[in-house]
Amino acid sequence: MALHRGSVPDPSSTARGSNPVLTEANPGLGLSLVLPKSRLAEDPVPPDVAAELIRDELLLDGSARLNLATFVTTWMEPQARELMAECVDKNMIDKDEYPQTAELERRCISMLADLWHAPDPEDAAGCSTTGSSEACMLAGLALLRRWRSRVEDRTRRPNLVMGANVQVCWEKFCRYWDVEPRTVPMEGDRFHLDAATAVAQCDEDTIGVVAILGSTFDGSYEPVAEICAALDDLAAGGGPDVQVHVDGASGAMVAPFLDTDLVWDFRLDRVASINTSGHKYGLVYPGVGWVLWRDSQALPEELVFNVNYLGGNMPTFALNFSRPGAEVVAQYYTFFRLGRAGFRAVQQGSRDVAMFLAGEIGAMTQFRLLSHGDQLPVFAFTTTDAVTSWDVFALSRALRERGWQVPAYTFPENREDLSVIRIVCRNGFGHDLAALLLTDLRAAVDQLEEQAHAVPLSGPSGFHH
Ligand SMILES: *Cc1c(COP(=O)(O)O)cnc(C)c1O
Repeated sequence: MALHRGSVPDPSSTARGSNPVLTEANPGLGLSLVLPKSRLAEDPVPPDVAAELIRDELLLDGSARLNLATFVTTWMEPQARELMAECVDKNMIDKDEYPQTAELERRCISMLADLWHAPDPEDAAGCSTTGSSEACMLAGLALLRRWRSRVEDRTRRPNLVMGANVQVCWEKFCRYWDVEPRTVPMEGDRFHLDAATAVAQCDEDTIGVVAILGSTFDGSYEPVAEICAALDDLAAGGGPDVQVHVDGASGAMVAPFLDTDLVWDFRLDRVASINTSGHKYGLVYPGVGWVLWRDSQALPEELVFNVNYLGGNMPTFALNFSRPGAEVVAQYYTFFRLGRAGFRAVQQGSRDVAMFLAGEIGAMTQFRLLSHGDQLPVFAFTTTDAVTSWDVFALSRALRERGWQVPAYTFPENREDLSVIRIVCRNGFGHDLAALLLTDLRAAVDQLEEQAHAVPLSGPSGFHH
């Protein structure tokens, strides 16, 4: 979320809305109607008027389902929407007042503990959060606490080892809690953390290694089992004994259904905790996330608060207090509705679309794939050397003309030279829409190439002919 700052009122704004039915045809209202932009208006307006004018303004937002930039759910069944609407007034923290919502949360955690192979699901601990960012903060805090309880010397500085491809929440964690981020840069065609580079960064002050399933930059899974094995060797050789947190914001809801042979979860003893975003491949509208610890040992007790002033005694671990219950109910609906077979079908559908699109785009002479959509249903591509007169940023703008939101961006430190486009395939983006995207993408490429042979563009396009 952008951090918004207040601004001075725009002197050109008129004291009249733009909707003729609401204003001109209702002159009394029209004369006094001001769309408040920086301070509260003096008087109320009728609810229909307020809703309609806000709806008008929101027309400028992009269409969520054409947003191929986001990992976050943009389509749910109408039944789920209804259920959520019925629950908007429930506060997740009031577990005593809404015991059944709390029970649904408990069931979700229990199902995730089973799905992620917690050694003793009874002993696993977990909670819902507003998303993976909060979940990662909590998991990071647990690692930090465990390190603190081992280390007497208060002058030592903790560090966290991770790839440069981590999501920004880990940089936030480090800055907010004063932990040194040890980010392993990308190198050549290695776009994420690997075992050797991770271990090389670890020392006695390392609170943990973050392994990502999978990377937001290109959808690839980091080799969690290899990282754990290398850390086992490090500890066996007398080195530090470093725990792993798996950031499964997306992949922890994909791999259990599509990659059942891949061992990445609590089956690895070294994995202390795992998070996921319920609102990504957990298939729920924002915002809900989950974090689980493998056993009660992995979650230091002093981080858990016992809240009793809402009646009852409830242990909680969270940054927020009040939070909507609707998303948790929707998560339970999704689990109940789909079961394992349903999840497998939905995630396979997204992977099929991603691999189809990646195959078609990779076959074009203008593009080179960096990933293939066969891990997360996400792939990234860049232009080949044959392309000199336009770039991925121009292509992204051209696709926007047709309503597609496909972001172009540069890779982090050490590969900043690499500019890519990333496409995230989600539930609700089926083969038909994918075929339309492909048609528009081919047309956009033709147009960009034609323009290159016509009069040179002027203006701030940022590239040279
Ligand atoms: C999206 C994402 C996050 C942050 O998750 P939110 O649910 O948006 O807070 C963290 N890590 C990874 C790998 C992600 O993909």
